[in-house]
Amino acid sequence: MNRTLVKTPILYYPEQSDSGFIDDTTDITATMFKDIGVTCPCSKTNKIYYNKYTFNYQHCQSKKHTEFMVGLKKNAPQIIKTSIERKAEIKNLRVLLGRTEKENIILRNEINRLKAFEEDNIEYRSQIESLEQHHANQTKEYVEYKSEMEEERNKFEVLSKEMLSLCGYDIE
Ligand SMILES: [Zn+2]
Repeated sequence: MNRTLVKTPILYYPEQSDSGFIDDTTDITATMFKDIGVTCPCSKTNKIYYNKYTFNYQHCQSKKHTEFMVGLKKNAPQIIKTSIERKAEIKNLRVLLGRTEKENIILRNEINRLKAFEEDNIEYRSQIESLEQHHANQTKEYVEYKSEMEEERNKFEVLSKEMLSLCGYDIE
């Protein structure tokens, strides 16, 4: 356990009851007083108390502490109001966080969708390029084949003419 945390004195706070604020140190044991120490918010000097009984029977009966308790009672509605406001603030923050988280998820999905689209685009582009390449090759082959055919036809024509002239026909 963190020693410095343990050594930080416990900040005492009176309990809230229906009739206002009352002193109650039940939760803080005598050992906690002895080992850690307790400070009271009524003290501006943050005096640390190490004895539970001194705290209960001297400090809590002191003029300063009694005045502090009266002040708490007087300010109770304001304290309660602040506490309700803080609770509402925390709730709002939680809602806001939840909303931001949802928005983040939507944005992340949108980014992924766009990325996939971009990948598709790259894929389409390379498909088009491949098709164009293929088409160019085909065209080249076709042209080559065509000229070969023409050459063959010419050869055939020459041969035909020779044969016909050999047979006595003269074609001009
Ligand atoms: Zn006090």
